[in-house]
Amino acid sequence: MWVEILYMKKIMRCNKCEEYTMKQTCSCGEKTVIPRPAKYSPNDKYAKYRRIAKKDEMEDK
Ligand SMILES: [Zn+2]
Repeated sequence: MWVEILYMKKIMRCNKCEEYTMKQTCSCGEKTVIPRPAKYSPNDKYAKYRRIAKKDEMEDK
């Protein structure tokens, strides 16, 4: 999960080409921006992990 967060910070997106890059400026000369998914909800993501953990716990018993 931490790797994912760190990785996301380095990923930039060119709105002109609609492509992802790790550079602050795209090869086309357009300044890249940090991509932000419209429906990003960290709470839902953690809830999913919690459910998986709970399930594993129950299977052990
Ligand atoms: Zn570009």
